[in-house]
Amino acid sequence: MKDKIISISNQFNEDCKNAEDLTKLEQLRLLYMGKKGKIAELMQGFREVPAELKKEVGVLVNNLKNNIEEKLAELKESLNNKALEKEIASSKAFDITLPVDIGVGSLHPRSIIQKQVIDTFASMGFIIEDGNEIETEYNNFISVNVPDTHPARDMQDTFWLDNGEVLKTQTSAAQNRILKTYGPKCKVLFPGRCFRNEAIDACHENTFFQIEGVVVDENVSVANLIYFMKKMLNGVFKKDINVRLRPGYFPFTEPSFELDASCPFCGGKGCSTCGNSGWIELCPCGMIHPNVLNMAGVDSSRYNGFAFGLGFDRLVMIKSGLDDIRHLNAGEIKLLKQFKTKIN
Ligand SMILES: [Zn+2]
Repeated sequence: MKDKIISISNQFNEDCKNAEDLTKLEQLRLLYMGKKGKIAELMQGFREVPAELKKEVGVLVNNLKNNIEEKLAELKESLNNKALEKEIASSKAFDITLPVDIGVGSLHPRSIIQKQVIDTFASMGFIIEDGNEIETEYNNFISVNVPDTHPARDMQDTFWLDNGEVLKTQTSAAQNRILKTYGPKCKVLFPGRCFRNEAIDACHENTFFQIEGVVVDENVSVANLIYFMKKMLNGVFKKDINVRLRPGYFPFTEPSFELDASCPFCGGKGCSTCGNSGWIELCPCGMIHPNVLNMAGVDSSRYNGFAFGLGFDRLVMIKSGLDDIRHLNAGEIKLLKQFKTKIN
């Protein structure tokens, strides 16, 4: 029996040399490990081994079986690897000798213009902050003077979460936290992504970007607001831009304004971008409502300030010449590639 075990072991090692592919390997497996294979045959003969030798022979048979199984698994892995290497070598996709032509990436027009806006405000001493995208009802509405009975809540179609929080509908949602952190004397700019449950068309998106700024100090005036907005526009358009204020209404500012910029393309004469009016409606703004300051712990009898909420996507569209806001979220590589050199 022992001789037979040694002979099978030697024969197996010899046979392995011929297992050149997976088919031959399978034949080899069946020959040794199959139901009628050599190992099964050995097991049958095991019955006739004298009792005193059973233990010793049993160990030898087991070792042989394990060795064969191990070797077969090794061979299979090795043959699989060889097959894969062959496939890679014959595939053009993996031809490492081919020249690379995947193009060079570029920044999204939003990123380019946001950096210009941030750089301009940072150079005027503004702190740049970030806000959350999921906000509490208090931060998004109540702290900016929009209680639940306020009609202004109807102006915004809100995505409410099951836990009562909201996807922030406006960057103002960060105002309370920022004023608590930096107030009462502060200049802070906080860009952010906002969400509203809007019907989407060329001018409306459910996901859009705003850039909000607040300045709080003693004796802040509307003249300061105009100064900073003109500086920002000059920074983005690299030319002198006039602004004008029209009366507006927002719960978080009093008085409230709509700020228009003189059309940077026609200089106010009228063109298709400005709808021949010479002016482009750019952002709601105003002097921060005393309630908003008080709720953030800023003494409104001593301090005041202004806030603006730049409709940033609109600015990006104007600057990049896009006429449909949906392009900004579409991730169209062909379209985005055009802005690599177009915006500066
Ligand atoms: Zn124009």
